[in-house]
Amino acid sequence: MNPCLRRIGQTLCLSAALACAFPAWSQPMGLPSMGAASASELSPLVEHTLGQAIMEQGRHDPTYIADLDINQYLTALGRKLAAHAPQALSQTITVFAVRDPAINAFALPGGYIGINSGLVVAAQSESELAGVLAHEIGHVMQRHIARGIAQQSQGTGLMVATLVGALLAALAGQGDLAMGVATFGQAATIDRQLGFSRSAEQEADRAGFQMMRQAGFDPRGMLDMFRRLMNASRLNEGTGGGYASTHPLSIQRLSDIENRLAELPPAAAHPDPEFWFVRARLALLQARGGADERLRQTFKSEARDRQGSRKAAALYGLAWLDWKAGQAEAARQQLEAARAVQTAPQLDMLDVRLARARSPSAAADASAQAWKRWPQSQGVADERARALQAAGQDQAAVDFLKAAVRQWPDTPEFQQLLSNSLERLGDKVQAHEAMASYFEQTGALPTAMEHLQQARRLSKDFYEQSRLDMRIRALRDSLENQRALLEPYKKK
Ligand SMILES: [Zn+2]
Repeated sequence: MNPCLRRIGQTLCLSAALACAFPAWSQPMGLPSMGAASASELSPLVEHTLGQAIMEQGRHDPTYIADLDINQYLTALGRKLAAHAPQALSQTITVFAVRDPAINAFALPGGYIGINSGLVVAAQSESELAGVLAHEIGHVMQRHIARGIAQQSQGTGLMVATLVGALLAALAGQGDLAMGVATFGQAATIDRQLGFSRSAEQEADRAGFQMMRQAGFDPRGMLDMFRRLMNASRLNEGTGGGYASTHPLSIQRLSDIENRLAELPPAAAHPDPEFWFVRARLALLQARGGADERLRQTFKSEARDRQGSRKAAALYGLAWLDWKAGQAEAARQQLEAARAVQTAPQLDMLDVRLARARSPSAAADASAQAWKRWPQSQGVADERARALQAAGQDQAAVDFLKAAVRQWPDTPEFQQLLSNSLERLGDKVQAHEAMASYFEQTGALPTAMEHLQQARRLSKDFYEQSRLDMRIRALRDSLENQRALLEPYKKK
């Protein structure tokens, strides 16, 4: 992840230390304030808008893992935990993966949580991953991040005001959002040395523990993972950037969790087998060059010594490595060995890729089979759409993607794929409309407006024109509302 974005994540975490020193929400919304409106009155809607703007930039970062399958799994895990939060959350949880071997996780405003690939790879069970995620959701639930940036703004007058200024300029069609975010990141480094307060950490642990238990995870995973993190931070002492630098781990915290565990009967966890496949995939994405051979040895020993999903996932990893090395036949054998142990959408997705080596139409057929078996998997849907496109079946891709957009209205990536096929079919009006929807959903409203206006100019059909006019008016209203929402937070 881009260092600025990373710093924002960490510092937002860090800044909660400040937040805990002041009771938040002391000023009701709408009261005239002395300086820029900020601080304790950062509303959930403003927080969401800021988080979306940071994510809009983050998506372009080379370390952002744009993989629907991985992010669907992580977000589902986060939402499963959040559904059992002891207090209602003011933000919807969205979890994404970042290519970074450091064992870390970070929360951004707006309920966005980034998980480093290194953390998933280090986890030895789904409950361990759930433990860290539940702790982060605990921070979101207590509004530590919102309060943190708000309080920090009050102190420095920088963070919220700077980002809001950049956002407003972008809404007005001037200025560069990326510049604002970079400045935001620089502002955030000022307080880098701060840590979450002990009470904030304990609150997040307590809430996280409860979520884990009620969502059916073994809360022991939280303890195991924190021990692992503590050891990792001892090994990396001085390098900074590790989990423990933003969430101070202490013997006290660990023994609090131990005490809570002692009061519980042993839990029967029902882990999702997909955890192991996502973990294998992240290990592959994280490995570079020479690391492939080491990874092959790890997968080999897991395939030999483990059972069930973990064994199948290791074979899946070996199949990927063979495929990457251009050995399609060896890859196919590993894939079949994995399938003999366990079925999983990830195995069928790889099957589609391997079929591509034979012919585009073989891949399209394989993707139809995969979709029949896994109609809830975004990763399979993505693979299906791309296979249809590669086979030149753009009309079938359009029909398929229109259904996918109805099934997952909040996943903008399908709009982008839809636009590509429409473009190739020569339907420029609808192609621009789909791109407008993509940008609208990622929060880039001015760019969405440009696409709608281009669609309107190209349209020759009266009914289509009126429909586009309506969309343009609605988007203009959203732009106005966002401007009005942000204006009070501008630096005066
Ligand atoms: Zn924490």
